[in-house]
Amino acid sequence: MIIGVDLGATKILSGIVAKDGAIVKRVKQPTIKERSPKDIVNRIVMAINDLLKDKSLEAHKIEKIVVAAPGPLSYPDGVIYDTPNLKWGYFPLKEELEKRLQKEVQVEHDATTAALGEYFFGQKKQYKHLLYMTVSSGIGGGIIIDGKPYRGINGGAGEFGHMVVEPKGRICGCGRHGCLEACASGTAIAVKAKKLIENGEGLGIKTYKKEKANITAYEVGLAARNGDPEAINLINETAYYLGSGTSNIINIFNPEIFILGGGVIFGLEDLLLESISKYVHNNVYALHRKNLVIKASELGEDIGLLGCAAMALEQ
Ligand SMILES: [Zn+2]
Repeated sequence: MIIGVDLGATKILSGIVAKDGAIVKRVKQPTIKERSPKDIVNRIVMAINDLLKDKSLEAHKIEKIVVAAPGPLSYPDGVIYDTPNLKWGYFPLKEELEKRLQKEVQVEHDATTAALGEYFFGQKKQYKHLLYMTVSSGIGGGIIIDGKPYRGINGGAGEFGHMVVEPKGRICGCGRHGCLEACASGTAIAVKAKKLIENGEGLGIKTYKKEKANITAYEVGLAARNGDPEAINLINETAYYLGSGTSNIINIFNPEIFILGGGVIFGLEDLLLESISKYVHNNVYALHRKNLVIKASELGEDIGLLGCAAMALEQ
């Protein structure tokens, strides 16, 4: 049995996962951005201690604790460096967790973890060269080469979201202009929709806005499905950027399969996936599109926990 913790920008999902990928127990808590890293560590430690006391574990041994966290994150020492999505500066996450738990903790980059979860439990090791891109509040990537996670020399590989797709585009959390994350993440879609509404446009999108709630990519999707031209434009623009970024990555890695996941893909798959796939097939080299599979993940929000189990099994 493995204890996995998926630390995200909006939630912390912790659970007990069996080696076959069965999730025995899961606990979900909100991540509050304003909270300090130490507060978040407290929450993770409490969740892990609760799981360790769980009765269903009596007959089993916990072999590993794996925590997946947003990048930039160093490997193997598990230090978070200025992550824009949690707004943390330098923070030695692995060291803090081990000090508090008095146990060894494996700390891994979240999207690399998700990619390995897809490789093991989503695609059942069918494709040895697999890339995973998550599109949610931010955009991240995970690289599996020859069945192994590729982390780069310091653990920083896979920052697909920080590839420039529009040199004069919006400023990104990393400080550059026109990164894929700044152009096509859930946050970017929401910011663009809000701007339209402030300019007196986007009335079709505004119809779906709930009082006091912020506009999100979800409302843009609802308006687009209802035929609103501005929402459709925004969706098409997002698909263009995602297609362009995905094509760049495919030309570099020549994968067998490219999997898209994250809240924006889960929520807007019907509006985005076909356009992204079409863009890629029209823009990568013929050699790169030969037998290429592009699909959405089917693991849902458990992908991080399954990835933690896969990381424990892989070592
Ligand atoms: Zn960036």
